[in-house]
Amino acid sequence: MNEIKDYVVYPDNIEIYTPPTMPAKQDKFYKNLVYVASAVVSKVCIRMGSKIEKINMDGLKPPYIVLSNHTQFVDFLVSFRALRKYNFNNIATLDGFVGMAKIMEKLGCACHRKFTTDISLVRAVHKVLHEYGDILYMYPEARYTNVGTTTLIPDVVAKLVKKNKVPLVVMIHHGSYLNAPFWDFRQYRKVPFRSTMKQVLTAEQVQEMSVEEINEVIHREMAYDDYKWQKENNIKITEDFRADGLNKVLYKCPHCMAEGQTVGKGIHLTCEACGRKWEMTELGEMKAVTGETEFSHIPDWYEWERECVRKELLDGTYKYEDDVHIHSLPGIEFIDLGKGKVTHDLENGFIVSGHYNGHDFRVQRTTKSLYTLHTEFLYKKLGKSDNFDVSVKDDSFYCIPTKKDVVQKLMFATEEAYKIYNENPSK
Ligand SMILES: [Zn+2]
Repeated sequence: MNEIKDYVVYPDNIEIYTPPTMPAKQDKFYKNLVYVASAVVSKVCIRMGSKIEKINMDGLKPPYIVLSNHTQFVDFLVSFRALRKYNFNNIATLDGFVGMAKIMEKLGCACHRKFTTDISLVRAVHKVLHEYGDILYMYPEARYTNVGTTTLIPDVVAKLVKKNKVPLVVMIHHGSYLNAPFWDFRQYRKVPFRSTMKQVLTAEQVQEMSVEEINEVIHREMAYDDYKWQKENNIKITEDFRADGLNKVLYKCPHCMAEGQTVGKGIHLTCEACGRKWEMTELGEMKAVTGETEFSHIPDWYEWERECVRKELLDGTYKYEDDVHIHSLPGIEFIDLGKGKVTHDLENGFIVSGHYNGHDFRVQRTTKSLYTLHTEFLYKKLGKSDNFDVSVKDDSFYCIPTKKDVVQKLMFATEEAYKIYNENPSK
């Protein structure tokens, strides 16, 4: 995958445990346990109730594939209610196993390192569908949505569907992002949860269609925009903390172009560089307190930021350099590697370097090998930090930046650099 790694040398007394890549059959006791937990969480977190609508699902029996959007942890629990009658296996990423390895294994989760190429994933999918005859449940975006809209779905998902010749179901959760947006997921807003579970392709259609046609169906059916859904359904979010932390994703001021100077607090987002202020309305729109509103729809603001990063990459002004605190994840325990450095640019991709256990290390993920970047906000496992991680085949490096609100921009830069590279591979 185009990685250069001067290995981190771990002391002999560190035990590295990696969960199995082959999923076990789902354990009924644990499945029922999570089902009960789901009911309790629904009462606590989803105070306005959760409803699941099933479309074209009559008579559908496993094996089949479910692709789902991912907005917060509660989605995972809702899936247990939706698939109450059947066994299903999740494709989960390694970080999901931290502190929960046993239960994840008992639930039949297959372990996969995020955004790396891994042939064992293909074998795991085959085992679930064709050996167990069960349901394969996947979050093809492999992350929580940052602003309630679809994030990148790699084309390989369509290939996986085509290869396995089973029906395709898409599950879309609405409301759960608005309830606990990723940038402030510790505070719950009162929002109804509405999920749809729809068979979008029969096994026969999968057989007949090309990978490109299946890909088109996946992108069409997986499209969602929770702010649009909120307005269409006139859902008012009256909590007076609704803009807390919004600066993590709306990090650039469209008035003075300053970055990392916005502050989301209460119902307002304010730019500390120029003083411009916007109110986040009860319908989730942004409204300038004085003067013209640049972007009322949050995803439009977000996509404008992406465009700005793309321009910087194309005109050669983009470069990220920062002192970071690095934690690695070779297995399911984080290891503190101490202070280090990260650089990111179009030419070299990511380079993470540092010194640990008496040895220097240097890890690189090139632009062409990384189509997106995993980001975390308020990540409890690493001191409630905002961070991003650069993964290679057998290790992941979680970097906590010194600079404020840079994580979102790095994600845009990774995705746009990858696209630019593919438009012009001689880069
Ligand atoms: Zn400003």
